Order: sequence, then structure tokens, then C-alpha cells
Amino acid sequence: MDIHDLATRVAAGERRALARAITLVESGRSDHRTQATELLDMLSPNGRQALRIGLSGTPGVGKSTFIETFGMFLIQQGLTVAVLAVDPSSARSGGSILGDKTRMEHLSREKNAFIRPSPSQSQLGGVARRTREAVALCEAAGFDVVLIETVGVGQSETMVAEMSDLFLLLLAPAGGDELQGVKRGIMEIADLILVNKADGDLKSTAIRTCADYSGALRLLRKRIYDPDGYPKAMTVSAVTQDGLIDAWAAMKELVDWRKAEGHWNKRRAQQARHWFEEDLRHGLLSVLTQAGTRARINDLGDRVAAGEISATRAAEEVLAELRLHTRFAN
Ligand code: GDP
Repeated sequence: MDIHDLATRVAAGERRALARAITLVESGRSDHRTQATELLDMLSPNGRQALRIGLSGTPGVGKSTFIETFGMFLIQQGLTVAVLAVDPSSARSGGSILGDKTRMEHLSREKNAFIRPSPSQSQLGGVARRTREAVALCEAAGFDVVLIETVGVGQSETMVAEMSDLFLLLLAPAGGDELQGVKRGIMEIADLILVNKADGDLKSTAIRTCADYSGALRLLRKRIYDPDGYPKAMTVSAVTQDGLIDAWAAMKELVDWRKAEGHWNKRRAQQARHWFEEDLRHGLLSVLTQAGTRARINDLGDRVAAGEISATRAAEEVLAELRLHTRFAN
């Protein structure tokens, strides 16, 4: 594969090249990994920045309906939209959140949209790296907005928030008790809480739920990177589009403020540092679990147990070998 050619095509915004590039970063083969790194190195100097929006919510809350509506809305504003999905838990059968593109019937037919199904499940560390690289590729391809969808389970939300400029939490209208069902940690990383399905019979419940969350958000510690009034809860309807204009206005207000105050760049810099260390940790762990290393550790473990070699000496031996052989595998 001619990586230079692929980079040129991705930068020119060619969909098929972008899809191919994402397949390359998703591959676990070491020659592909080398090419993927090369490709990203070639593309990163083009300096394009998309607005990265993370979106989370439990199954059934209306994520795909919202992305379809919101994506179409953004396109009507003259923007281009890429949609990526993270589903490390494989909570759905088939393993792919967006495997069925009919979930976003209109958006998937839009020439200004790009929808990428999530790859099959894998370790979170690997998923994080692949998703981040896919985001970088979409940015390099010139997309204005990259939506990163994840289901509201496990660590995937924190992971997606760590690669997003804005993190949206989609919630359903519910009785007061359910407010406590939303983990505090998730509330703390949300920039906007959108109470969806604020239409028809559910509208009044949605408004009440939204007020409850507004109250809960006010109790959280103020974050340095938020202007007054944020994070905030709002009602939307992915079906009627009610509240969408206001939600987008809030997102833009938040982004503009953070850019003006220097928080946007600072946050991206912190995220880059975070991912560097995470990749390192993940790479080292995967070296430890490689078959050869594992066998060596077991062997030395036997000798330590038999009193032939001290624990310290055995650990030193393995570490010395790792220093020589470390390859950051997938
Ligand atoms: P996901 O699992 O989070 O992706 O949720 P879906 O987008 O598949 O939506 C789950 C169900 O909620 C579907 O039956 C949708 O039609 C419905 N739904 C989604 N958004 C809304 C909304 O704004 N209002 C109403 N009334 N129903 C909605």
C-alpha cells in the first residue's frame, strides 16, 4: 500500500480513502501498525481541528435517533459530520453499535456525513487508541464535527470524554428516583446533559427530569474550564427537533468561551499527554502478556519459588530483557 498516496487522498477528503485508513489503524498486524503510524505522522501537520463531541447514553435513550437528527441539523448549517462509535462492552448482539446503518437512514446517505461502525470488541486500551486515531483521520480529512458515540456502560464513557472537546450525556425522562442511577462520575464529566424525548406525553416529565438534573449539576464542584451556568441540563426531542437549536447554541457558547480563555488548547494538550501515558501503560502490559514473556516469567517464578534465585534478581532479569525487547504491540 502506498501510504503517501493514501495520506493525500485522506487529506483531500476522499471517503473511500478515509474508510481504508481507519481499517488500517484498526488492524492489529505489526506491519499495518507501522504504516498507520506513518500515515498519522504524514497527516498531523495539516493542523485541521474538528469539534469532537462525545455522546453517551444507555441503550434505548435515543442516541442513534439523536445523531441522525443532530447530524442532519449540522449539515443544514453547512457543516460536515463524521460519526464514530465505541462499544468495547459489545452490549449489543453482533458487537457493532452502528453495524446497521439504517439506524441513521438519512445521515448515512448524506454526502457530507461519514458513518463508521465500531470494530468488534477488544481490550479498552486498544479500542481507545484506534478510536483516537480514527478521530485524527476524520479531522485530517477535514470534517467539521466528529461525533463519538458510546453506550453508557463501563469505562468507555471516561475514555470517550478524554478524547472529546465536549461531552454530552443523553438521558431519558424519568422519575426522581432514577436520578441517582446516573453515576456521579458521569455527571462530573458531562458538559451538557440532554434530556431526550421531550415531546408528546413525555414532555412534562422531561422538563421535570431536566430541572432535577440542573439542581444536581449545581451541587457539583465548579470546573475551571466552564463559564457560569455550565455544565447545564436541557431538554431535547430527537424526533421533533425541539430544543436542538438551543442545545447547539449552548455547545457553541461553551466552545467559544473555552477557546477565548485558552482552555480548549490546554485541554487538548492534557488529553494528548494522558493518551501518551495510557498507550505506554497499555503497551507495557501487552508486552508482559505476550506468550514468550509469559513463559519466561513462569519459568523464573518456578525458580524463585524453589529458592534458586531471589525475587529481586528475577524481576531485574525480566525488566532488563523487556528494556531490550519492548515493542508497543497492539
Ligand atoms: P439508542 O439505543 O440510544 O440508540 O436509542 P434509539 O435511537 O434506537 O431510540 C430508542 C427508541 O426511542 C426508539 O423507539 C426511538 O424511536 C425512540 N426515541 C428516540 N428519540 C426519541 C424522542 O426524541 N422522542 C420520542 N418520543 N422517542 C424517541
